[in-house]
Amino acid sequence: MGDRFLLKIVIPLVAISLMLLGLGAVAAWNVQRQQAVSSTLIAREVHGMLAAQSVDIGMRELRHQLNQFLRSGKHKYFERIPRLHEETEAQLERAKQLARTEDEERLIGVVAQGYDEFWNEFQRINNPDFEGDREQALGQLIDTTLTETILVPGREYIEYNRKVVERTTESSRATSDQLRQGFLLLGVCGGASGLVAGMGIARAVNRSIVQLDVSVRSVAGKLNRVAGPVMISQVGGFRELETGLRTMENHIANVVERLQRSEMEVLRNEQLAAVGQLAAGVAHELRNPLMPMKMLVQAAIERDDRQGLTGRALHVVDEEIARLERSIQMFLDFARPSPLEKSTFDLARVAEQTLELIAGRAEQQGVVLRDQLPTESVPIEADCAQIRQVLLNLLLNALDALPDGGEIVVEVESTAAASREDRPLAVLRVADSGAGLPESVLDRVFEPFVTTKETGTGLGLSVSHRIIAAHGGTIEARNRSEGGAEFVVRLPCSSPLEVAAAH
Ligand code: ADP
Repeated sequence: MGDRFLLKIVIPLVAISLMLLGLGAVAAWNVQRQQAVSSTLIAREVHGMLAAQSVDIGMRELRHQLNQFLRSGKHKYFERIPRLHEETEAQLERAKQLARTEDEERLIGVVAQGYDEFWNEFQRINNPDFEGDREQALGQLIDTTLTETILVPGREYIEYNRKVVERTTESSRATSDQLRQGFLLLGVCGGASGLVAGMGIARAVNRSIVQLDVSVRSVAGKLNRVAGPVMISQVGGFRELETGLRTMENHIANVVERLQRSEMEVLRNEQLAAVGQLAAGVAHELRNPLMPMKMLVQAAIERDDRQGLTGRALHVVDEEIARLERSIQMFLDFARPSPLEKSTFDLARVAEQTLELIAGRAEQQGVVLRDQLPTESVPIEADCAQIRQVLLNLLLNALDALPDGGEIVVEVESTAAASREDRPLAVLRVADSGAGLPESVLDRVFEPFVTTKETGTGLGLSVSHRIIAAHGGTIEARNRSEGGAEFVVRLPCSSPLEVAAAH
């Protein structure tokens, strides 16, 4: 299961969860707000109602005291009146403050007005200067002002408040019902979406298991051919898949081990073959020069010539000994590469000197040597003797390819660096007008013992390749479209400081 698969599962799940969480949070906030509003409203109405009821009770008490006085004529019933006045006035003030709507303010205003009228009239009647029938006036005050202008509107106010409380409670209940339904819906939706998401995930996981199972079986089928029968249990869940993968892991480990063993065997066989080839090459190379020397020596013995070898025969022996030396050196170079002794020198100058070395043989074969060397130096830091050996190998091969004459072109140039970090490259090209590289060896010319020559060792280009690689360079071989072979050697140029040293 990759990251993409996990994302495919996680993103919808997180989205659904966040949506439900958001809805829940909004609903909870709404519930709390509604509750707070309803509570404040109800508390206010209840307090207003209580204040109005206190006024009502106080005024009824007052009426009761005054009626007692009228009935008995005893002044002791007047004693509680100032305290009642004080208390009812405070409650009325409170009711006024709690009035919230226009209707409430109007109703409480009517009560307050009646209340003021009552007390003004009460004080006027109670005044010692009052002229008239005090008891009759008091009786009238109780029946009209107190009852009609205070108690009746007071009742109305209480009734109004009661209805408001009822309405508020009712609306709060309705909101709670709605919210309960909402939460129920939320719960159902949450559960349902969880179920759908779960089913989706289960299907996706199942599909992946099936796909994995198909892949495991296909790999097992392939392994069957190399590692014998690989048993994988029937399609199931993760556990079966895991067991299947474990089985395969063991088989793959076995196959890899076998591969490593057979690779080692191949390597050992290749090494043995290489040693055999080397031995054959050495034998061939040593026997070739020995044959003419043996014939010359045998002829001298048969002639019973006491003077031994002279003249031409000695020249032949000398040449063959030189050839032997060259072959032995070549084998030594191949078997035991000498360490690099680097110095900074001009590649163009080395090319010029090496061309001079082969000039004699070139002339004998009718080969024209052409050089295209730059006027400025092309400094490289390398083992001069080894680079010269590479150039010599390439030139001798070119001469071998031109037994009946032709042309060899040697070109040296330096190219600009590909990037700031790179150094400029020194490029050496050796091209000839011969028959070109034979198709059979074109791809293998740098492998050891690859040769098409009677007396060749097949080591020259292999040694050259190794030398150039040891210098951090490259060597390529190709056949030119106009005919003949071309070898291109690329080596890193020296830094400007070293260039100065080269002059
Ligand atoms: P050797 O010269 O002993 O054969 P080399 O490694 O130098 O070994 O060369 C390998 C082979 O590459 C040669 O035998 C020849 O077939 C081919 N070859 C090399 N240089 C040239 C060339 N200039 N033209 C044609 N063939 C070449």
